[in-house]
Amino acid sequence: MGLGDLNGEPMSKIADLPEENHNSHPNEEDEDEIFFYGMLFLGLGVFIFFILVLVVVIDNCRARRALSKRVNKLTYDDSLNPTETNCPICIQDFINGEILYVLQCTHVYHKKCLSEHVISYKNKRCPVCRANIFG
Ligand SMILES: [Zn+2]
Ligand SMILES: [Zn+2]
Repeated sequence: MGLGDLNGEPMSKIADLPEENHNSHPNEEDEDEIFFYGMLFLGLGVFIFFILVLVVVIDNCRARRALSKRVNKLTYDDSLNPTETNCPICIQDFINGEILYVLQCTHVYHKKCLSEHVISYKNKRCPVCRANIFG
Protein backbone atom coordinates (compact mmCIF):
# COMPACT_ATOMS: atom_id res chain seq x y z
CA MET A 1 0.00 0.00 0.00
CA GLY A 2 2.69 2.47 1.23
CA LEU A 3 4.92 1.52 -1.63
CA GLY A 4 2.19 1.99 -4.14
CA ASP A 5 1.46 5.49 -2.82
CA LEU A 6 5.12 6.41 -2.90
CA ASN A 7 5.51 5.15 -6.41
CA GLY A 8 2.30 6.71 -7.59
CA GLU A 9 3.10 10.26 -6.46
CA PRO A 10 6.53 10.79 -7.93
CA MET A 11 5.45 8.98 -11.05
CA SER A 12 2.63 11.40 -11.66
CA LYS A 13 4.88 14.39 -10.91
CA ILE A 14 7.53 13.13 -13.28
CA ALA A 15 4.92 12.39 -15.85
CA ASP A 16 3.34 15.85 -15.51
CA LEU A 17 6.49 17.93 -15.62
CA PRO A 18 7.93 16.97 -18.98
CA GLU A 19 4.47 17.00 -20.47
CA GLU A 20 3.95 20.63 -19.42
CA ASN A 21 7.35 21.63 -20.72
CA HIS A 22 6.84 19.67 -23.86
CA ASN A 23 3.45 21.14 -24.56
CA SER A 24 3.94 24.78 -23.64
CA HIS A 25 6.94 25.43 -25.85
CA PRO A 26 5.82 24.18 -29.23
CA ASN A 27 2.35 25.64 -28.62
CA GLU A 28 3.81 29.10 -28.13
CA GLU A 29 5.87 28.71 -31.27
CA ASP A 30 2.82 27.48 -33.14
CA GLU A 31 0.83 30.45 -31.89
CA ASP A 32 3.64 32.79 -32.87
CA GLU A 33 3.73 31.24 -36.31
CA ILE A 34 -0.06 31.40 -36.68
CA PHE A 35 0.03 35.02 -35.48
CA PHE A 36 2.85 35.84 -37.88
CA TYR A 37 1.16 34.28 -40.89
CA GLY A 38 -2.17 35.72 -39.78
CA MET A 39 -0.70 39.21 -39.73
CA LEU A 40 1.13 38.55 -42.99
CA PHE A 41 -2.07 37.50 -44.75
CA LEU A 42 -4.02 40.30 -43.09
CA GLY A 43 -1.39 42.81 -44.21
CA LEU A 44 -1.38 41.35 -47.69
CA GLY A 45 -5.19 41.41 -47.77
CA VAL A 46 -5.31 45.05 -46.65
CA PHE A 47 -2.61 45.92 -49.20
CA ILE A 48 -4.47 44.22 -52.07
CA PHE A 49 -7.71 45.86 -50.90
CA PHE A 50 -6.11 49.32 -51.02
CA ILE A 51 -4.62 48.62 -54.46
CA LEU A 52 -8.06 47.58 -55.72
CA VAL A 53 -9.69 50.67 -54.17
CA LEU A 54 -6.99 52.84 -55.76
CA VAL A 55 -7.53 51.22 -59.16
CA VAL A 56 -11.30 51.74 -58.88
CA VAL A 57 -10.87 55.37 -57.74
CA ILE A 58 -8.42 56.14 -60.58
CA ASP A 59 -10.72 54.38 -63.07
CA ASN A 60 -13.72 56.37 -61.80
CA CYS A 61 -11.79 59.65 -62.01
CA ARG A 62 -10.72 58.85 -65.57
CA ALA A 63 -14.28 57.95 -66.60
CA ARG A 64 -15.64 61.09 -64.92
CA ARG A 65 -13.05 63.27 -66.66
CA ALA A 66 -13.69 61.58 -70.02
CA LEU A 67 -17.40 62.22 -69.57
CA SER A 68 -17.06 65.89 -68.70
CA LYS A 69 -14.47 66.45 -71.46
CA ARG A 70 -16.02 64.53 -74.32
CA VAL A 71 -19.76 64.70 -73.72
CA ASN A 72 -21.68 67.96 -74.20
CA LYS A 73 -23.26 69.40 -71.11
CA LEU A 74 -26.50 71.32 -71.11
CA THR A 75 -28.54 73.07 -68.47
CA TYR A 76 -32.18 72.12 -68.98
CA ASP A 77 -34.53 74.98 -69.81
CA ASP A 78 -38.03 74.11 -71.00
CA SER A 79 -38.49 77.61 -72.49
CA LEU A 80 -36.17 76.46 -75.32
CA ASN A 81 -38.72 73.76 -76.30
CA PRO A 82 -36.25 70.88 -76.05
CA THR A 83 -37.06 67.67 -77.95
CA GLU A 84 -36.14 65.46 -75.00
CA THR A 85 -38.10 66.17 -71.84
CA ASN A 86 -37.27 63.16 -69.70
CA CYS A 87 -34.30 61.00 -68.81
CA PRO A 88 -34.48 57.46 -70.26
CA ILE A 89 -32.46 56.07 -67.33
CA CYS A 90 -34.60 57.22 -64.39
CA ILE A 91 -37.75 58.06 -66.47
CA GLN A 92 -38.07 61.39 -64.60
CA ASP A 93 -39.00 64.61 -66.37
CA PHE A 94 -36.15 67.09 -66.62
CA ILE A 95 -36.48 70.11 -64.33
CA ASN A 96 -35.23 73.59 -65.26
CA GLY A 97 -31.65 74.10 -64.15
CA GLU A 98 -30.73 70.41 -64.08
CA ILE A 99 -27.39 69.55 -65.68
CA LEU A 100 -27.81 67.12 -68.57
CA TYR A 101 -25.45 65.22 -70.83
CA VAL A 102 -26.22 65.30 -74.54
CA LEU A 103 -24.64 62.42 -76.43
CA GLN A 104 -23.52 62.49 -80.06
CA CYS A 105 -26.44 60.18 -80.83
CA THR A 106 -28.64 63.09 -79.55
CA HIS A 107 -29.97 61.13 -76.57
CA VAL A 108 -30.14 63.23 -73.41
CA TYR A 109 -29.68 62.09 -69.81
CA HIS A 110 -29.26 63.56 -66.35
CA LYS A 111 -25.56 64.12 -65.66
CA LYS A 112 -25.97 62.06 -62.49
CA CYS A 113 -27.73 59.18 -64.26
CA LEU A 114 -25.29 58.94 -67.18
CA SER A 115 -22.29 59.22 -64.82
CA GLU A 116 -23.64 56.32 -62.80
CA HIS A 117 -24.30 54.33 -65.98
CA VAL A 118 -20.72 54.85 -67.18
CA ILE A 119 -18.86 54.75 -63.87
CA SER A 120 -20.76 52.20 -61.79
CA TYR A 121 -21.81 49.84 -64.56
CA LYS A 122 -18.69 50.30 -66.70
CA ASN A 123 -20.97 50.76 -69.68
CA LYS A 124 -19.71 53.09 -72.39
CA ARG A 125 -22.72 52.75 -74.66
CA CYS A 126 -25.84 54.87 -74.88
CA PRO A 127 -28.55 53.07 -72.87
CA VAL A 128 -31.11 53.77 -75.63
CA CYS A 129 -29.32 53.16 -78.94
CA ARG A 130 -26.07 51.45 -77.80
CA ALA A 131 -23.91 53.99 -79.68
CA ASN A 132 -20.47 54.54 -78.12
CA ILE A 133 -20.80 57.45 -75.65
CA PHE A 134 -17.20 58.53 -76.29
CA GLY A 135 -17.74 58.06 -80.06
ZN1 LIG B 1 -32.12 60.51 -64.88
ZN1 LIG C 1 -28.22 57.06 -78.06
